[in-house]
Amino acid sequence: MRIVIDQNLCCGSAKCIKVCPENAISLVDGKAVLDEAKCDLDGLCIPACPKSAIEYEDDYAGVGCGF
Ligand code: SF4
Repeated sequence: MRIVIDQNLCCGSAKCIKVCPENAISLVDGKAVLDEAKCDLDGLCIPACPKSAIEYEDDYAGVGCGF
């Protein structure tokens, strides 16, 4: 499991940055970028995003099952 930020949806509001206790998110060229080494997967950033650009992703989704 990991957190992913959809760069196409991100509007650069930085609201996720303000709520992240791990300082795992930074703005690069106006888009939120996640440092996965710092992220503890608490998910506080997910409801903070006004564009719903952040979500959990299963690392193993679809791998090996043919779908
Ligand atoms: S899940 Fe938590 S630690 Fe990870 S980026 Fe979001 S707010 Fe930060």
